[in-house]
Amino acid sequence: MTFPLFLAPEIEASRRLAYTANAIDRQSENRSDDSVATALADPRTRLMLIRDGRVWLKKNEAGFDPWYKRAEAEALSAHLGAAVLLGWDERGPVVAATGGIDAEALPPEVKAIDYRSVTVQGLIDPAALGALAQAGALSAWHATHAFCGRCGKPTEMRAGGYKRVCTGCNAEHFPRTDPVAIMLTISGDRCLMGRGPHFPPGMYSALAGFIEPGETIEAAVRRETFEEAGIRLGRVTYFASQPWPFPFSLMIGCYGEALNDDIRFDAKELQDCRWFSRDEVLAAFAGNHPDSVFVPPKTAVAHHLIRNWVEMA
Ligand SMILES: [Zn+2]
Repeated sequence: MTFPLFLAPEIEASRRLAYTANAIDRQSENRSDDSVATALADPRTRLMLIRDGRVWLKKNEAGFDPWYKRAEAEALSAHLGAAVLLGWDERGPVVAATGGIDAEALPPEVKAIDYRSVTVQGLIDPAALGALAQAGALSAWHATHAFCGRCGKPTEMRAGGYKRVCTGCNAEHFPRTDPVAIMLTISGDRCLMGRGPHFPPGMYSALAGFIEPGETIEAAVRRETFEEAGIRLGRVTYFASQPWPFPFSLMIGCYGEALNDDIRFDAKELQDCRWFSRDEVLAAFAGNHPDSVFVPPKTAVAHHLIRNWVEMA
Protein backbone atom coordinates (compact mmCIF):
# COMPACT_ATOMS: atom_id res chain seq x y z
CA MET A 1 0.00 0.00 0.00
CA THR A 2 1.32 3.46 -0.88
CA PHE A 3 1.56 5.65 2.15
CA PRO A 4 -0.60 8.60 1.09
CA LEU A 5 1.67 11.22 2.66
CA PHE A 6 4.32 10.55 0.04
CA LEU A 7 2.57 10.91 -3.30
CA ALA A 8 5.08 13.60 -4.31
CA PRO A 9 7.28 12.79 -7.34
CA GLU A 10 10.58 11.04 -6.70
CA ILE A 11 12.53 13.99 -8.10
CA GLU A 12 11.62 16.96 -5.92
CA ALA A 13 10.73 20.04 -7.95
CA SER A 14 13.11 22.04 -5.73
CA ARG A 15 16.02 20.08 -7.16
CA ARG A 16 15.45 21.73 -10.54
CA LEU A 17 16.04 25.21 -9.13
CA ALA A 18 19.23 27.24 -8.77
CA TYR A 19 20.91 27.31 -5.33
CA THR A 20 19.42 23.94 -4.30
CA ALA A 21 22.34 21.58 -5.03
CA ASN A 22 24.37 22.45 -1.95
CA ALA A 23 26.40 19.31 -1.07
CA ILE A 24 27.98 20.71 2.10
CA ASP A 25 27.52 18.85 5.39
CA ARG A 26 27.12 21.78 7.79
CA GLN A 27 27.46 19.86 11.06
CA SER A 28 25.80 22.86 12.72
CA GLU A 29 25.62 21.06 16.08
CA ASN A 30 29.21 19.78 16.08
CA ARG A 31 31.21 22.98 15.93
CA SER A 32 33.58 24.60 18.35
CA ASP A 33 34.81 28.17 18.52
CA ASP A 34 38.07 27.18 16.82
CA SER A 35 36.29 25.46 13.89
CA VAL A 36 37.38 28.10 11.39
CA ALA A 37 41.02 28.10 12.59
CA THR A 38 41.12 24.31 12.36
CA ALA A 39 39.64 24.41 8.86
CA LEU A 40 42.08 27.10 7.72
CA ALA A 41 44.99 24.93 8.92
CA ASP A 42 43.77 22.02 6.77
CA PRO A 43 45.54 21.95 3.37
CA ARG A 44 42.39 20.53 1.73
CA THR A 45 40.30 23.58 2.66
CA ARG A 46 38.69 25.56 -0.16
CA LEU A 47 37.52 29.14 0.29
CA MET A 48 34.83 31.11 -1.50
CA LEU A 49 35.43 34.87 -1.50
CA ILE A 50 32.59 37.37 -1.64
CA ARG A 51 32.24 41.11 -1.19
CA ASP A 52 29.40 43.59 -1.70
CA GLY A 53 27.00 41.06 -3.25
CA ARG A 54 29.61 39.77 -5.67
CA VAL A 55 31.55 36.53 -5.72
CA TRP A 56 35.17 36.56 -6.84
CA LEU A 57 35.84 34.06 -9.62
CA LYS A 58 39.17 33.04 -11.11
CA LYS A 59 39.00 33.11 -14.89
CA ASN A 60 40.88 30.35 -16.67
CA GLU A 61 40.69 28.51 -20.02
CA ALA A 62 38.03 26.14 -18.67
CA GLY A 63 35.76 28.91 -17.40
CA PHE A 64 35.37 30.31 -13.89
CA ASP A 65 36.67 28.78 -10.68
CA PRO A 66 35.02 29.89 -7.41
CA TRP A 67 37.51 28.17 -5.07
CA TYR A 68 40.70 29.50 -3.47
CA LYS A 69 43.41 27.97 -1.35
CA ARG A 70 44.25 29.80 1.87
CA ALA A 71 47.42 31.37 0.44
CA GLU A 72 45.48 32.66 -2.57
CA ALA A 73 42.83 34.14 -0.27
CA GLU A 74 45.49 35.82 1.85
CA ALA A 75 47.07 37.30 -1.29
CA LEU A 76 43.66 38.97 -1.94
CA SER A 77 43.57 40.31 1.66
CA ALA A 78 40.56 38.13 2.55
CA HIS A 79 39.26 38.76 6.09
CA LEU A 80 40.11 35.31 7.44
CA GLY A 81 39.55 36.45 11.04
CA ALA A 82 35.85 36.81 10.26
CA ALA A 83 35.58 33.80 7.94
CA VAL A 84 32.64 31.40 8.19
CA LEU A 85 32.91 27.63 8.05
CA LEU A 86 30.18 26.49 5.65
CA GLY A 87 30.90 22.84 6.45
CA TRP A 88 32.54 19.87 4.81
CA ASP A 89 32.14 18.20 1.44
CA GLU A 90 33.90 15.23 -0.13
CA ARG A 91 36.97 17.38 -0.85
CA GLY A 92 37.36 18.75 2.68
CA PRO A 93 36.35 21.83 4.68
CA VAL A 94 34.61 24.70 2.88
CA VAL A 95 35.01 28.26 4.15
CA ALA A 96 33.53 31.58 3.05
CA ALA A 97 35.34 34.88 3.62
CA THR A 98 34.97 38.51 2.67
CA GLY A 99 37.48 39.75 0.14
CA GLY A 100 39.64 42.58 1.47
CA ILE A 101 40.16 44.82 -1.54
CA ASP A 102 37.94 46.75 -3.90
CA ALA A 103 36.90 45.05 -7.13
CA GLU A 104 38.89 47.62 -9.17
CA ALA A 105 42.11 46.55 -7.41
CA LEU A 106 41.72 42.83 -8.20
CA PRO A 107 44.32 41.14 -10.42
CA PRO A 108 43.08 40.70 -14.02
CA GLU A 109 42.40 36.96 -13.65
CA VAL A 110 39.96 37.54 -10.76
CA LYS A 111 36.50 38.81 -11.66
CA ALA A 112 34.02 40.17 -9.08
CA ILE A 113 30.61 39.18 -10.47
CA ASP A 114 27.23 39.80 -8.84
CA TYR A 115 25.34 36.74 -7.61
CA ARG A 116 22.51 37.16 -10.13
CA SER A 117 24.80 37.25 -13.16
CA VAL A 118 26.80 34.26 -11.92
CA THR A 119 23.54 32.37 -11.51
CA VAL A 120 21.73 33.38 -14.69
CA GLN A 121 24.84 32.88 -16.83
CA GLY A 122 25.61 29.52 -15.18
CA LEU A 123 29.23 30.49 -14.51
CA ILE A 124 29.76 27.97 -11.68
CA ASP A 125 28.49 24.42 -11.14
CA PRO A 126 25.23 23.74 -9.25
CA ALA A 127 26.96 22.59 -6.04
CA ALA A 128 29.07 25.78 -5.97
CA LEU A 129 25.91 27.85 -6.56
CA GLY A 130 24.40 26.11 -3.53
CA ALA A 131 27.47 27.03 -1.50
CA LEU A 132 27.16 30.61 -2.77
CA ALA A 133 23.57 30.80 -1.51
CA GLN A 134 24.75 29.68 1.93
CA ALA A 135 27.82 31.93 1.93
CA GLY A 136 25.94 34.98 0.68
CA ALA A 137 23.11 34.63 3.20
CA LEU A 138 25.45 34.03 6.17
CA SER A 139 27.73 36.87 5.15
CA ALA A 140 24.80 39.30 4.88
CA TRP A 141 23.46 38.18 8.25
CA HIS A 142 26.82 38.66 10.01
CA ALA A 143 27.24 42.07 8.39
CA THR A 144 23.93 43.28 9.88
CA HIS A 145 24.12 41.65 13.34
CA ALA A 146 27.27 43.15 14.83
CA PHE A 147 25.26 44.42 17.83
CA CYS A 148 22.94 42.67 20.25
CA GLY A 149 19.22 43.16 19.64
CA ARG A 150 18.59 42.74 23.35
CA CYS A 151 21.16 45.05 25.02
CA GLY A 152 22.95 46.84 22.17
CA LYS A 153 26.48 45.68 23.03
CA PRO A 154 28.76 44.21 20.32
CA THR A 155 28.32 40.55 19.37
CA GLU A 156 31.05 38.06 18.46
CA MET A 157 31.02 35.25 15.93
CA ARG A 158 31.08 31.73 17.38
CA ALA A 159 30.68 28.14 16.23
CA GLY A 160 32.45 28.82 12.96
CA GLY A 161 29.92 31.50 12.06
CA TYR A 162 26.77 29.61 12.99
CA LYS A 163 25.92 31.94 15.84
CA ARG A 164 26.85 35.26 17.42
CA VAL A 165 27.09 35.79 21.16
CA CYS A 166 26.65 39.14 22.91
CA THR A 167 29.69 40.44 24.81
CA GLY A 168 27.36 42.26 27.22
CA CYS A 169 24.51 39.89 28.12
CA ASN A 170 25.64 36.56 26.56
CA ALA A 171 22.48 36.36 24.44
CA GLU A 172 22.90 33.95 21.54
CA HIS A 173 21.81 35.05 18.07
CA PHE A 174 21.37 32.55 15.24
CA PRO A 175 21.46 33.11 11.47
CA ARG A 176 18.02 33.91 10.14
CA THR A 177 16.12 33.00 7.01
CA ASP A 178 13.17 35.10 5.83
CA PRO A 179 10.39 33.02 4.23
CA VAL A 180 8.76 34.48 1.14
CA ALA A 181 5.64 33.00 -0.43
CA ILE A 182 5.54 33.10 -4.23
CA MET A 183 2.38 31.85 -5.82
CA LEU A 184 0.86 31.21 -9.19
CA THR A 185 -2.90 31.61 -9.04
CA ILE A 186 -4.88 29.43 -11.42
CA SER A 187 -8.41 29.94 -12.75
CA GLY A 188 -9.45 27.27 -15.24
CA ASP A 189 -6.90 27.40 -18.03
CA ARG A 190 -5.56 30.82 -17.06
CA CYS A 191 -2.92 31.93 -14.60
CA LEU A 192 -2.49 35.25 -12.83
CA MET A 193 0.73 37.18 -13.30
CA GLY A 194 1.77 40.71 -12.44
CA ARG A 195 4.68 43.01 -13.03
CA GLY A 196 6.43 45.24 -10.53
CA PRO A 197 7.58 48.73 -11.53
CA HIS A 198 11.24 47.59 -11.39
CA PHE A 199 10.75 44.64 -13.80
CA PRO A 200 12.36 44.79 -17.25
CA PRO A 201 9.78 45.80 -19.91
CA GLY A 202 7.57 42.84 -20.87
CA MET A 203 8.36 40.61 -17.90
CA TYR A 204 5.48 39.20 -15.88
CA SER A 205 5.81 36.87 -12.92
CA ALA A 206 4.02 35.09 -10.10
CA LEU A 207 3.02 37.31 -7.17
CA ALA A 208 5.10 37.14 -4.00
CA GLY A 209 5.40 38.52 -0.50
CA PHE A 210 7.00 37.93 2.88
CA ILE A 211 5.32 35.49 5.22
CA GLU A 212 4.38 37.45 8.34
CA PRO A 213 4.73 36.45 12.00
CA GLY A 214 1.91 34.17 13.07
CA GLU A 215 1.01 33.08 9.55
CA THR A 216 0.98 29.71 7.86
CA ILE A 217 2.40 29.46 4.35
CA GLU A 218 -1.14 28.95 3.01
CA ALA A 219 -2.47 32.00 4.89
CA ALA A 220 0.33 34.14 3.50
CA VAL A 221 -0.39 32.94 -0.04
CA ARG A 222 -4.09 33.81 0.36
CA ARG A 223 -3.43 37.19 2.01
CA GLU A 224 -0.81 38.33 -0.51
CA THR A 225 -2.94 37.29 -3.48
CA PHE A 226 -5.95 39.17 -2.11
CA GLU A 227 -3.92 42.27 -1.14
CA GLU A 228 -2.04 42.49 -4.42
CA ALA A 229 -4.71 41.34 -6.89
CA GLY A 230 -8.09 41.24 -5.12
CA ILE A 231 -8.37 37.51 -5.82
CA ARG A 232 -9.64 35.16 -3.11
CA LEU A 233 -8.09 31.72 -3.09
CA GLY A 234 -9.52 28.32 -2.27
CA ARG A 235 -7.06 25.45 -2.27
CA VAL A 236 -3.35 26.18 -1.93
CA THR A 237 -0.66 23.60 -2.65
CA TYR A 238 3.08 23.62 -2.14
CA PHE A 239 5.33 23.18 -5.18
CA ALA A 240 9.02 23.83 -4.43
CA SER A 241 11.36 25.98 -2.37
CA GLN A 242 14.60 27.79 -3.08
CA PRO A 243 17.26 29.48 -0.93
CA TRP A 244 17.52 33.05 -2.22
CA PRO A 245 20.56 35.02 -1.01
CA PHE A 246 19.07 38.52 -1.51
CA PRO A 247 19.87 38.81 1.33
CA PHE A 248 18.70 35.70 3.22
CA SER A 249 15.31 34.50 2.04
CA LEU A 250 13.69 31.17 1.39
CA MET A 251 11.32 31.33 -1.57
CA ILE A 252 8.35 28.99 -1.10
CA GLY A 253 6.55 28.35 -4.38
CA CYS A 254 2.83 27.47 -4.26
CA TYR A 255 -0.24 27.22 -6.46
CA GLY A 256 -3.50 28.86 -5.50
CA GLU A 257 -6.99 28.15 -6.84
CA ALA A 258 -8.87 31.38 -7.64
CA LEU A 259 -12.42 31.80 -6.31
CA ASN A 260 -13.14 34.98 -8.29
CA ASP A 261 -11.64 36.47 -11.44
CA ASP A 262 -12.23 40.22 -11.15
CA ILE A 263 -8.75 41.60 -10.55
CA ARG A 264 -8.33 44.70 -8.41
CA PHE A 265 -4.60 45.10 -8.21
CA ASP A 266 -2.62 47.22 -5.77
CA ALA A 267 -1.12 49.99 -7.88
CA LYS A 268 1.45 50.75 -5.16
CA GLU A 269 2.93 47.25 -5.55
CA LEU A 270 2.19 46.42 -9.17
CA GLN A 271 2.29 48.22 -12.47
CA ASP A 272 -0.02 45.63 -14.02
CA CYS A 273 -1.66 42.35 -13.14
CA ARG A 274 -3.76 40.19 -15.42
CA TRP A 275 -4.87 36.75 -16.48
CA PHE A 276 -2.84 34.88 -19.08
CA SER A 277 -4.23 31.98 -21.08
CA ARG A 278 -2.19 28.82 -21.43
CA ASP A 279 -1.57 29.69 -25.09
CA GLU A 280 -0.28 33.12 -24.13
CA VAL A 281 2.12 31.60 -21.60
CA LEU A 282 3.33 29.07 -24.17
CA ALA A 283 3.96 31.99 -26.52
CA ALA A 284 5.87 33.80 -23.77
CA PHE A 285 8.11 30.75 -23.30
CA ALA A 286 8.56 30.44 -27.06
CA GLY A 287 9.53 34.11 -27.34
CA ASN A 288 6.70 35.02 -29.69
CA HIS A 289 4.05 36.60 -27.45
CA PRO A 290 2.36 39.44 -29.41
CA ASP A 291 3.05 41.93 -26.58
CA SER A 292 6.62 40.61 -26.09
CA VAL A 293 5.64 39.20 -22.69
CA PHE A 294 8.22 36.95 -21.08
CA VAL A 295 8.66 35.25 -17.71
CA PRO A 296 11.61 35.15 -15.27
CA PRO A 297 14.68 33.03 -16.13
CA LYS A 298 14.92 29.38 -15.14
CA THR A 299 17.07 30.28 -12.14
CA ALA A 300 13.92 31.63 -10.43
CA VAL A 301 11.23 29.53 -8.78
CA ALA A 302 8.59 31.61 -10.62
CA HIS A 303 9.83 30.23 -13.94
CA HIS A 304 9.30 26.66 -12.76
CA LEU A 305 5.90 27.38 -11.19
CA ILE A 306 4.74 28.78 -14.53
CA ARG A 307 6.41 26.12 -16.69
CA ASN A 308 5.18 23.23 -14.56
CA TRP A 309 1.60 24.53 -14.79
CA VAL A 310 1.71 25.15 -18.53
CA GLU A 311 3.23 21.70 -19.20
CA MET A 312 0.60 19.89 -17.13
CA ALA A 313 -2.03 20.38 -19.85
ZN1 LIG B 1 23.28 41.67 24.67
